[in-house]
Amino acid sequence: MLNPSANRLGTESAFSVLARAGQLAASGKDIINLGIGQPDFRTPQHIVEAGIKALQDGAHGYTPSMGLPELRQTVSDDIKMRYQQDVSPELIQIVPGGKPVMFTAMMLLGGAGQEILTPDPAFPIYQSAINYSGATAVPYGLIEENGFAFDAEDVLSKITDKTSLILINSPANPTGGTTPKSEMDKFIKGMEKFPNVKILSDEIYDRLIFSGQPLSLLTYPEIRDRLIVLNGWSKTYAMTGWRIGYGIWPSELIDYADRLAVNVHSCVNAATQHAAITALTGDQSCVDEMLVAFRRRAALISNLLNDIDGISCQAPSGAFYAFANIKNTAFSSMAFQEKALENYGVACISGTSFGGFGEGYIRLSCANSDEAITEAVSRLKQMISDNA
Ligand code: PLP
Repeated sequence: MLNPSANRLGTESAFSVLARAGQLAASGKDIINLGIGQPDFRTPQHIVEAGIKALQDGAHGYTPSMGLPELRQTVSDDIKMRYQQDVSPELIQIVPGGKPVMFTAMMLLGGAGQEILTPDPAFPIYQSAINYSGATAVPYGLIEENGFAFDAEDVLSKITDKTSLILINSPANPTGGTTPKSEMDKFIKGMEKFPNVKILSDEIYDRLIFSGQPLSLLTYPEIRDRLIVLNGWSKTYAMTGWRIGYGIWPSELIDYADRLAVNVHSCVNAATQHAAITALTGDQSCVDEMLVAFRRRAALISNLLNDIDGISCQAPSGAFYAFANIKNTAFSSMAFQEKALENYGVACISGTSFGGFGEGYIRLSCANSDEAITEAVSRLKQMISDNA
């Protein structure tokens, strides 16, 4: 008999839209993909070469399950350099992508009777993993009127004696919103009253900020003993397909996180870990160049979308997504997604894929060329006028 929890697993519609877009393209349709959230850049050449060299040098075997010691040290050095914070390499776990950190956190801190606070709209795997663990997901809204930032008081007001974990993601997928430091300060202050509640800060977009400084929850020493940080290489270094990320764990959880990794994947492939060392220690101008492109495209896409009757779009402040309000069009979010892909060749994602607060919105990724973005939005303009 199937384990009943299997029926509670959700999915990430970006992958089904990607598959359908691929089918349509294979049948000869001209498809512009603003669906999946991955940089359209290739991994920078010096990183690719480090991976190739590692393979040629014989890095073919298992590595320690927590990751190569040199890589864990490099991550620790990177955090020291970027945030002036000391994190022991012993608390850093190298995993295949950022995703395993969230899944591990839910497996360790979820379960029947627990409540986990999660942003809504948000990365769909948060809710899926919470539900799978048997815990109850308690959404807190990230609303447009608030610049898609979280409201510390609202989040704090949802904590009960069953709350085991709070998820935070800034800059955020799918909205491109960032939470200002003043609001984060308020939240951390409020958390003093709840010393048993852990926090998972998903910082995968921390180097993709269009104005102001990146903010890591590692800079709040008062919560360090109950903070889990998720980060990785996928978005920063255009390395989504290499599958590598890291978690920083409180000392009381690190051994459990390792045990889960040993049960599930053993380790990240060795060559990828060598490439990841080069990514962090090598020339960072590739990161800056990608950031400049994403910033320009984010402005481009929101300006173009605001030109369409019935659509409005806040300029994203980070990550590489625009989250457009389509409430004044003839479409629900899902109908918009389907019509845009099937009839106008534009892959975008319904806001409802990210939670109930996403109704009335669609997510468009800025990870495509200026020309493709311009053409895609012009097709959407046509779609709205054809269906007015
Ligand atoms: N966290 C957020 C908010 C994301 O948007 C993503 C990927 O889209 C991830 C984590 C997972 O990243 P990875 O591909 O490294 O598993």
